[in-house]
Amino acid sequence: MHTEPLPADHRPSDQAPADHRRIGRELKLFATDPLAGAGLPLWLPDGAVIRAELEKLAAEEAIRGGCQRVFTPVLAKRALFERSGHWAKFADDMFPPMRVGEEEFVLRPANCPHHALVYASQQRSYRDLPIRLAELGAMFRSELSGVLGGLSRVRQINLDDTHVFCAPEQVPGEIARAAASVQRCYRLLGIEVARYRLSRRGGGDGYLGDASLWAAAERHLAAALNEIGIDYEDAPGEAAFYGPKIDVQVADPAGREETLSTVQLDFNQPERFDLGFIGPDGGRHRPVMIHRGVLSAMERLVALLIERYNGAFPPWLAPVQVLVLPVAEQHEERGREIAARASAAGLRAECDPADATLGARIRRARDRRVPYLTVIGDRENASGQVAVRLRDGRRLEAVAVERLIDEVSRQVAGRYAGLGFGQAEVPV
Ligand SMILES: [Zn+2]
Repeated sequence: MHTEPLPADHRPSDQAPADHRRIGRELKLFATDPLAGAGLPLWLPDGAVIRAELEKLAAEEAIRGGCQRVFTPVLAKRALFERSGHWAKFADDMFPPMRVGEEEFVLRPANCPHHALVYASQQRSYRDLPIRLAELGAMFRSELSGVLGGLSRVRQINLDDTHVFCAPEQVPGEIARAAASVQRCYRLLGIEVARYRLSRRGGGDGYLGDASLWAAAERHLAAALNEIGIDYEDAPGEAAFYGPKIDVQVADPAGREETLSTVQLDFNQPERFDLGFIGPDGGRHRPVMIHRGVLSAMERLVALLIERYNGAFPPWLAPVQVLVLPVAEQHEERGREIAARASAAGLRAECDPADATLGARIRRARDRRVPYLTVIGDRENASGQVAVRLRDGRRLEAVAVERLIDEVSRQVAGRYAGLGFGQAEVPV
């Protein structure tokens, strides 16, 4: 993994363990307001930058993985979720229906039913398959106030989700494709897989469909994992209500595990929505549906990354990438000009007003974990070069402004974890 050790000077002085709620507050990434409600975080401008970068990554990865993007509404008639089985098996986690005239609407707990309708909106041939529909959309969970906190337990999640509709024989290829996408994204984000889990049906009546379909789906998933050489742990009772799944487990520094990405195999929804495609024989056949979540919910992912990086994000995710620090008021004009050049090159750059001592402002910038600082004084004004300090404490030889912009732009464009300027980094 090309992860950078966290520099000692970014650890808070009290050595408190990384907690995304505390860091999120300190870095002004998100907030909650009792007037809006618990579990409904407000993304502040700096947090929104991080989320927007991750959404951009999700969109690029979807296209790269052969998906087509769609947009579907956050609510639908209750009947849609009766059809999908959510109403029977998942209603306890859903907000109660809203009555409008004679109709009842519910906030969606998942977008699978909408995507089934997108698939069903046209006649499909075996030549069209696989069809992969991607959407990073909002979903809702009626969690009780008591269990909510930060970004990890929320009532609205914004989930990176893809639904693949394919012929049964295409399943192994699609599982391999999903696993490759997970591995590519994790490498980029510096996330390590703790283990893969094959989550199967358990006892009880919390599951849709008959046992033989489940057994077939579980065999398919196990065979696909074996074929691509992924070791996994067997987990009976951890399946989704509509099908078994591969869970990609990640661990926090304290060793607590959670599921980040999932790949779920579903024979049930295609039945319930009567989906079909015309096969080479001219007959109508049933597709399989694969639910694939790579980056997971933006809330969960950002919470994990805040803790993983202790707020010191790689340059491509940093809310401010370059902070220009004029030594005194007479250097502010030059400072603003440099920040403007960096902004024009597509970087997130700011000029910090000379309203306190330079030492105090450098500390403030470090508290914000800004990766690149440049100090502008008399010498820099005269030479046309700038002195660069990296977030990890290194001070570099003075460089031309263009060199600074080029180096930072390269790190950002490559989504590298390192700070560049000769520091080792691994292209992904
Ligand atoms: Zn789904």
